[in-house]
Amino acid sequence: MKWQGMTSAEIAAVDRKTPVVLGIAAIEQHGPHLPVNTDAVIGQHFLEAVDARLGPDVLILPPVQVCCSEHHMDFVGTLTVRHETLIAYVGDILDSVAAHGFRTMMLFNSHGGNQAIGQVILERFGARHPDCRIALLTWWRAAGPELAAITESGFGGVGHACEFETSLIMLAQPDAVRRDRIPRRSKVPTFEWAQFDMLVGARGSLYRGMKEQSGGTGVVGDPSFASAEKGERITATVVDTTAAIIRSLRQ
Ligand SMILES: [Zn+2]
Repeated sequence: MKWQGMTSAEIAAVDRKTPVVLGIAAIEQHGPHLPVNTDAVIGQHFLEAVDARLGPDVLILPPVQVCCSEHHMDFVGTLTVRHETLIAYVGDILDSVAAHGFRTMMLFNSHGGNQAIGQVILERFGARHPDCRIALLTWWRAAGPELAAITESGFGGVGHACEFETSLIMLAQPDAVRRDRIPRRSKVPTFEWAQFDMLVGARGSLYRGMKEQSGGTGVVGDPSFASAEKGERITATVVDTTAAIIRSLRQ
């Protein structure tokens, strides 16, 4: 079910044990070949499938598309809000949902720059609402082991506007991919202890803006390995995992 298409009376009639899901994404540069709404499209692509799978067992809020992308601001087209703004804004949305009697919520994240701030929002809301249950899922972490079996580009090939994200846009919005501009591998190495990709975490965090990480291309990873067929396999595993986690929250 989608919150924004329902009447007030219809929302009032929903079982209050139903998990309520809020997508958080980004509007930011995604290299020469993908549009700035890539993370927003990917998040909604997954949630549409989850909605179709779970029907009355999930209630999906209108997504928050512009989030925290300051590390992409060297690239034209990126929109960003301050961390404090996102904490307040998403916190107010969750408070509204709780005020209407819902007690189970999940943030569904499709942007790397939202992981830390999403955890802060979760901890603040959870501590202030001991009667509620709140979870945070970032899609590539939720399905990490299964996704590791799909990637072919090796360590560093999945990061930003990469093998995975390009595959998903090829599937979800094929006309949005500028196929003649898909670059090859792009990633600027750093200390061994600070190297990471979507599937392998680093030993420690080192701040580097996206211009530095990508060597100015806006791409971290290898989109030349992307295909719509791979996008289908990624979607299947992420939707299976997300739907199962949402079902578990209902219990
Ligand atoms: Zn992205």
